[in-house]
Amino acid sequence: DQHIPKLLEVNYIEGVNDPKWSSTIFPWTKKLEAKNKEVFGNHSFRPNQREVINATMSGHDVFVLMPTGGGKSLTYQLPALICPGITLVISPLVSLIQDQIMHLLQANIPAAYLSASMEWSEQQEILREIGTDYCRYKLLYVTPEKVAKSDLLLRHLEGLNSRQLLSRIVIDEAHCVSQWGHDFRPDYQKFKETPVLALTATATASVKEDVVQALGLENCIVFRQSFNRPNLWYSVIPKTKKCLDDIDKFIKENHFDECGIIYCLSRMDCEKVAEKLQECGHKAAFYHGNMDPPQRAFVQKQWSIDEINIICATVAFGMGINKPYVRFVIHHSLPKSIEGYHQECGRAGRDGQRSSCLLYYSYSDYIRVKHMISQSGIEQSPVTPGFNRNNMANPGRVLETNTENLLRMVSYCENGVDCRRFLQLLHFGEKFNPANCKKTCDNCSKNQSFIEKDVTMTAKQLVELVRMVRQQFSSSHILEVYRGSLSQFVKKHRHNNLSLHGAGKHLDKGEASRVLRHLVTEDILVEDVKKSDLYGSTSSILKVNDSKASSLFLGRQNVTLRFPCSVKASKLSKSLVTPAKGTLLPGRTSPPRMDTPAQTPSEMDLSLSAK
Ligand code: ADP
Ligand code: MG
Ligand code: ZN
Repeated sequence: DQHIPKLLEVNYIEGVNDPKWSSTIFPWTKKLEAKNKEVFGNHSFRPNQREVINATMSGHDVFVLMPTGGGKSLTYQLPALICPGITLVISPLVSLIQDQIMHLLQANIPAAYLSASMEWSEQQEILREIGTDYCRYKLLYVTPEKVAKSDLLLRHLEGLNSRQLLSRIVIDEAHCVSQWGHDFRPDYQKFKETPVLALTATATASVKEDVVQALGLENCIVFRQSFNRPNLWYSVIPKTKKCLDDIDKFIKENHFDECGIIYCLSRMDCEKVAEKLQECGHKAAFYHGNMDPPQRAFVQKQWSIDEINIICATVAFGMGINKPYVRFVIHHSLPKSIEGYHQECGRAGRDGQRSSCLLYYSYSDYIRVKHMISQSGIEQSPVTPGFNRNNMANPGRVLETNTENLLRMVSYCENGVDCRRFLQLLHFGEKFNPANCKKTCDNCSKNQSFIEKDVTMTAKQLVELVRMVRQQFSSSHILEVYRGSLSQFVKKHRHNNLSLHGAGKHLDKGEASRVLRHLVTEDILVEDVKKSDLYGSTSSILKVNDSKASSLFLGRQNVTLRFPCSVKASKLSKSLVTPAKGTLLPGRTSPPRMDTPAQTPSEMDLSLSAK
């Protein structure tokens, strides 16, 4: 059904469906469950946590793909507590490490970290402790460059290893491995006997291969979890001047007195939205970076004890927020990337209960966000609070990536046809079968008729174009060139001189973009992740999968896509038209409907062209 891409040419074993790993009769099971409660205060395990722990405790190398917030840390922190010796955690971002250490110390788990930027004396102190036979630490966090560059650390690790006190090596945010460079590998590969646990939330196929190969994990057990969240209901709604009234109405009709987060673009928006909702009788408050810390702490407290139900916040809110019964996440403005959007929506329905995710979209918000990105792309970037130094060194590249991510978000919003889950998950390298959506997104529950249209010509041209630009550009660039853009970037690369420049100018962006996405789902085009930062925000370039593409060019394969059709078009031959049986949208009563489709001229054009 659901197709999660396979790792190519790499030795690995699927762990997810192997009942062995969910067993509760391992020698450590009792201890595991007890510590999970006592030390971490968890009443149960989240999906795959127990399985991953059992596999790594059994001594295997394990590779875990789990969405952000899925609870990856527990899968090494619990084993660290139970096993003798020290767990080495390699994690790329000092601020994340510090946050983890703080939580561990609060739970009375001795932990320390080493980074290149620490005082030398402090580092020595920690190393000295590691050298003793009665080392207190259960976890030692280090940054990758520390592992690569410090012989002293390496010698200490060897010492631990020879005393059988190096219990596990954890690579957190493992998708960064390919950036860490090669000097990192040989060093820690010395510890052949020590189980490796690699963790990431970035699921793109090429990232997985990179990681498994770069770490030399052989026969590792892979736990891949779908990024689909079946209990979240997605819809995109055209944003009008009445947006706040719509929101008020939606909450009253569907989630009155329940918890929700409303993500806003600016601090001003947060305050405005909160004020309006208060006037309408909701227990709402705002939360943003401009408040002083006590004020912020106060709001957070009120929220945690349910004195406040609705938080109107900038994306800064939510990092450590863990309320399982958030019933709705509303985006008052366009999110900056699909990853960010998926992650923010992911804060709803952690308890598995049905929850709503509404996104209010207007083209003018796109312009606003674009402006914000170009003004201060780096510190504003939502999914990348700790944008790494590598990227800082190249602000042009950052801007390009951010713009690319934003454009993807726009095309998501403007797509009034394809399943929202399908579109989101495709972004994470997961091929979701829209039939499994079961009308839990706006597009799947629309009552519309479709017409099959042959788009083979467009498909061929797009593939050809990807070849012409030497397989070095992103999908949004390909689309620009195809539709005849004369932007600076297009001119700079002389792509306005290509024979296919403007070949698709009669098409609108929505259509060309859908054909392109379709080619990716069909594996005719492959998205190769160029760079992914610490938070999984990626930029990718398009490549051609020659073996698949050849059947397209040999005329063995036609590409057809469904397009919604108007009344006129539906009078066409019946065999062409598939009427969709449809119920309505999420929510207990029906929330605002998208009667006017997301204002994509595409759909109108297409229904005309289907005469
Ligand atoms: P990830 O690294 O996968 O993004 P984290 O390890 O940071 O996720 O965990 C996210 C949150 O989920 C943390 O606040 C953690 O305390 C919580 N959490 C993890 N496992 C459980 C569990 N079994 N039960 C309840 N909460 C959990
Ligand atoms: Mg994590
Ligand atoms: Zn759907």
